[in-house]
Amino acid sequence: MKNGVVIVGGGHAGVQAAASLREDGYDGPVILISDENELPYHKPPLSKAFIKDADAKPQPLRGEAFYTGNAIDYRPGVRIERIDAGGRSLEISGGVLAFDHLILATGSRPRLLPLPGSDLSGVLSLRSLADARRIRDLSARSEDVVILGGGFIGLEIAATLRAAGRTVTVVEAVDRLLGRAVAPVVASHVRQRLEAAGVRILTGTSISRLEGENGHVVAAMTSSGEKLPARMVIVGIGAVANVELAQDAGLAIANGIRVDHQMRSSVPEILAIGDVASYRHWFTGGDVRLESVQNATDQARLAARAITGHADAYSAVPWFWSDIGDMKLQMVGLTAGGDSHVVLGDLPDNKFSIYHYAGDRLLGIESVNRPGDHMLGRKMLGAGFSPTPETVAMGPEGLKAALAAFQQDEPARAAG
Ligand code: FAD
Repeated sequence: MKNGVVIVGGGHAGVQAAASLREDGYDGPVILISDENELPYHKPPLSKAFIKDADAKPQPLRGEAFYTGNAIDYRPGVRIERIDAGGRSLEISGGVLAFDHLILATGSRPRLLPLPGSDLSGVLSLRSLADARRIRDLSARSEDVVILGGGFIGLEIAATLRAAGRTVTVVEAVDRLLGRAVAPVVASHVRQRLEAAGVRILTGTSISRLEGENGHVVAAMTSSGEKLPARMVIVGIGAVANVELAQDAGLAIANGIRVDHQMRSSVPEILAIGDVASYRHWFTGGDVRLESVQNATDQARLAARAITGHADAYSAVPWFWSDIGDMKLQMVGLTAGGDSHVVLGDLPDNKFSIYHYAGDRLLGIESVNRPGDHMLGRKMLGAGFSPTPETVAMGPEGLKAALAAFQQDEPARAAG
């Protein structure tokens, strides 16, 4: 009798792993454990439409029939506190659950803000559906909102709440938005459009303390001494991986749970996937821990393949999207280390793509409202094709033709 696969974490990665195990023919028990009391749901809408629309419903990742129909034993509202890696078991509700394989898909959580006043009510962060409900309820009653952190989630929330009529100020400690996630030209475009929409943005500014009345936040004091009125403060200063379970069990940790190209941790029967996993990326050769739906679902598929006896290595092209007001940002590839770029399209039209190069190798593409470029970019990077800047300048038709020619030559290249 098989003990089966236990998956800890019912987010994007955990649910996909359960689905992929069945798709790959795994016929042993599959137990999916989540500390949330919900049917697993899509996270990206939470910082977008969900928080401004009182009637918006959570979007389940899979309907209830998926779990029953595929014999996936979904256990909500259960938090796992201890794993016995050597004994291949974990503690659950006072008992012990044995596994043949364990998949850790515990995700990440918002980084905390060590500031005077951060324990006041009205100071929130956004990770879960429960957080999103709190933000939606409070923002409906709050005129002034201060958002700490100019990353993707902070800016998505800023655009959404501004569109809902709130007075929104974003405070970012460094001198630009979106950290190093996108090129400066994209970051300043985003800033310009958010400001045009009425969002106030303070970069190079930090918050020294939060002030409250009767236990509720009323203001945020900036490092330059300005008092920003705030009935709600949302902290979006990044996320940390939920590694504690793995760490206590003695697994190797390096920013996240360290995994190999098959998602196996330092204990081979224990795999880690999604936001919690850190690994050497085939695309750049560098160590990464990525926080994206694509990374979570592709790694889940790979973990299921590893458990069902396949030897594939992780080779997905990384991609990510973010919707900030009227900007659909789509990123493909990893652009760190780039030394030049080419722009296609028009910034004033709010439709352009930036092609990033290291030498003559295409590293990645950042697109704003040009989904066709993004999709083509995924094909090009997947095929290992780097168009010259001159080909990029020819636009989508020239790129498609050049990619087709490259793919046609593939057999000749492979032959030598
Ligand atoms: P999660 O989805 O976080 O799931 C982990 C689950 O494990 C959680 O339910 C957690 O409660 C549970 N858990 C943790 N520890 C335990 C334990 N000990 N016992 C039991 N359960 C446990 N990505 C994009 O690509 N595009 C976007 O536009 C985008 N927008 C986002 C907006 C928001 C508001 C957020 C929060 C994220 C967004 N992301 C986006 C990122 C994306 O959602 C994550 O990368 C993805 O959810 C990671 O999946 P995961 O399964 O690794 O982790």
